[in-house]
Amino acid sequence: MSFLKKISYTDLAMGKSQNKFFSQGLKFQCQGSGKCCVSRGEYGFVYMTQDDRKKMAEVLKMTPSAFTRKYCEKTGGIWHLKANPDGPECLFLNPKNQCEVYNGRPVQCRTWPFWPENMNTRAWRRDVVRFCPGVGQGKVTSPQKIQKTLEEQEAAEAELFGPSSLK
Ligand code: SF4
Repeated sequence: MSFLKKISYTDLAMGKSQNKFFSQGLKFQCQGSGKCCVSRGEYGFVYMTQDDRKKMAEVLKMTPSAFTRKYCEKTGGIWHLKANPDGPECLFLNPKNQCEVYNGRPVQCRTWPFWPENMNTRAWRRDVVRFCPGVGQGKVTSPQKIQKTLEEQEAAEAELFGPSSLK
């Protein structure tokens, strides 16, 4: 699952510098609400790295170029999934709130909610806890696992938005 994403260079920098926020780990277990796969306000895009496009194409048994032509577009020079013409839901969210391309879902979907901009108390309480019913559920995710997830997300963002986005 993912939380459709916005670009915020300021928040990215803030998340990077405050990663002691999760030194005790954080509780999170997806509840399958599908909320994170619905565009809302400034959170509007599922960004797609080159590898994301390749993996999703594989799951859909398409070539990366055919997949990109059919399902992706660029805004500000950055690839993301096309908007769903029928509503704010992601093109791949089915009526049961399940991802139709789960095994090939992009990095930002796999790493939610451990995104750089969320790794501080203010954003966690303001954006994440209020929005996502999975926060506070299940077992504690260890700081090591959060760090690894965060690094995966940071690498994707560096590819998409440029390395300077994380400084
Ligand atoms: S690709 Fe799948 S997990 Fe990601 S936003 Fe779309 S439906 Fe949700």
